[in-house]
Amino acid sequence: MKIILLGAPFSGKGTLARNIMKDFDVVQISTGDLFRENIKNGTEVGNLAKSYMDKGELVPDEVTIKMLAERIKKDDCKKGFILDGFPRSIAQAEALKTITDIDAVIELDVPLDEIKRRCVGRRICSKCGEIYNTSTYDKSTCQKCGAPLFQRDDDNLETITLRLEVYEKTTAPLINFYADKLFVAKGSEKGPEETYKPVKTFLEGLK
Ligand code: AMP
Repeated sequence: MKIILLGAPFSGKGTLARNIMKDFDVVQISTGDLFRENIKNGTEVGNLAKSYMDKGELVPDEVTIKMLAERIKKDDCKKGFILDGFPRSIAQAEALKTITDIDAVIELDVPLDEIKRRCVGRRICSKCGEIYNTSTYDKSTCQKCGAPLFQRDDDNLETITLRLEVYEKTTAPLINFYADKLFVAKGSEKGPEETYKPVKTFLEGLK
């Protein structure tokens, strides 16, 4: 199964992707994570991406599309994948069409107030990638594996405002672009497990 996850920054795409992976034979591909990996390894792509990410802007298409195309050619993607953070524009969606077909698009719809509340509190496990928020979990180590939590460099108020604007202007039009494959999941106040339930039912129906 090949799935795209759409949703504003902090809507919970990463957490939803992790839940989907538990039940379906798919790998999560986050272009943001791929860039962060490149930055950590000091690659040319990483150095270029960092200058855009630090400002909250999109990394140029030629770099992003090439990186994504190479990633989905790998063996672990054969059974399926979830794209988290790609495509982020109509141009990227058009390019994706020439690379692979897609079975479903899930939009994670979370009210702006809730997104603003979450943004500065996000913490991520440095080892297993589990995602927390300081409003519900205020420890500095991961509940699952014990590794230290970190805050992303671009999770600061200035960058967040721009990232939300970029989403509204450039990425949100994809909701119409994918209208024929779209499933809208409302972010539940009761937490990620509740948000995931209807998504699971929808994906089971596609099998
Ligand atoms: P994310 O981890 O998805 O929040 O992405 C973090 C940052 O990585 C974004 O603010 C962009 O600078 C960059 N990025 C991630 N995915 C893309 C993409 N599909 N196109 C362009 N830039 C991206």
